[in-house]
Amino acid sequence: MKCAISRQEVTESRADGRGSAVVVGTSLAGLMTALCLSRAGIDVTMLERSDDSGRTGAAVHVGEGLLERLTGRSETGALPHGVQTWFTVHGRLRAAVEADGRIELHQNVRVRDVGQDDGSAWAVTSDGRTFRGDIVVGADGHRSTVRRAVCPDNADATFAGYLIWLGLTEEWALPPGTRWPGDVAYLESGDCILLGYPLPGPDGSTAMGTRQLGWAWYDRGRNDLLRRSGCVADDIVRHSLTGADIPDQTYRELADEARRRWPSPWRDAILDCTDRHAVIGTPIAEYVPDSLAMGRLALVGDAAHVPTPMTGSGFGASLSDAEALADAVRAGVRGDRAVAALRDYERRRLTAARSMVESGRQFSRRFAGRRG
Ligand SMILES: Cc1cc2nc3c(=O)[nH]c(=O)nc-3n(C[C@H](O)[C@H](O)[C@H](O)COP(=O)(O)OP(=O)(O)OC[C@H]3O[C@@H](n4cnc5c(N)ncnc54)[C@H](O)[C@@H]3O)c2cc1C
Repeated sequence: MKCAISRQEVTESRADGRGSAVVVGTSLAGLMTALCLSRAGIDVTMLERSDDSGRTGAAVHVGEGLLERLTGRSETGALPHGVQTWFTVHGRLRAAVEADGRIELHQNVRVRDVGQDDGSAWAVTSDGRTFRGDIVVGADGHRSTVRRAVCPDNADATFAGYLIWLGLTEEWALPPGTRWPGDVAYLESGDCILLGYPLPGPDGSTAMGTRQLGWAWYDRGRNDLLRRSGCVADDIVRHSLTGADIPDQTYRELADEARRRWPSPWRDAILDCTDRHAVIGTPIAEYVPDSLAMGRLALVGDAAHVPTPMTGSGFGASLSDAEALADAVRAGVRGDRAVAALRDYERRRLTAARSMVESGRQFSRRFAGRRG
């Protein structure tokens, strides 16, 4: 990983390279995209607004050999497959990026605007720097800044009408003798749905006593709280409710409901999280794309398409984006090639991305009781 700072940053590609990309966002989609682009011979500069503290994330399903597939190397270090915590996946992808000499990563850098002309594309940061490359890729999530330049007429993901409460409990915090679930659980109770995931421990261990239980509780009954707290405004999801932002009264209600609604071990996992005030309330957003590229700008991951988590497909779709983009740019992005390559990327991914979000929308409309 290289590091450089100046007012006007130009991502110089190597003489033997196939061009350069600026990737905005270093979460799962951004990291996978950078690895795939690097493997295709593109030099990558990554820009991330956060310092990685206070990151939150649910669980995602990882296919076997993911890191090897992304890097093309077999010695990349193990990323266990199956359902894994966001933190495990992020940590391993991040380590692979740091080990990659073609990728340069800048943190605490917020992109406020992107632009392009006939010869290049660029990202302007809030501290006044400009990062330039042959292409700019937005991997900046459901409230993407890059999307505003790619699709100005369809720039915002919209609130789906419900939230998910998320929590993670360590096995040792559960009552002694708790029966460990063998598989992912799907439970319904009244107008709520609970998904529960048995997960390895933070260090990847699957030994008894070291594992974790993750849970996601779909709740359509607290939209007033989301609006009062500013999490949702004008039908747009602004932010999640985290730990201390959740009113004590809501924690008490969740604990009471958990006792009534959910069986062990999920009830116990939820009660552990409500006791510790370690719950996140994420309002669900959805976005059906009309386009994935415009000139030298492209979108991947949640910047490109936001399905409800009920589809379980956001991570897999981000991987497909990264691989399709790398295939499309394999002949390089120098000069005029960039625009044709990104048009090819859009052609490969747009239909699948639209139908993935649309299929989730049918669930959302039913669950939230919304029309249209
Ligand atoms: C509650 C929940 C549960 C989910 N469950 C599943 C599941 O079970 N299975 C599944 O496959 N998927 C699931 N997903 C979706 C999945 O996590 C995402 O699709 C996937 O991780 C890709 O996210 P991303 O990297 O595109 O976006 P994000 O994770 O949102 O990352 C965007 C990144 O861009 C950075 N950024 C944003 N704006 C700027 C800026 N202006 N300048 C610089 N940096 C910026 C952010 O700090 C962040 O690091 C779930 C999502 C949620 C919300």
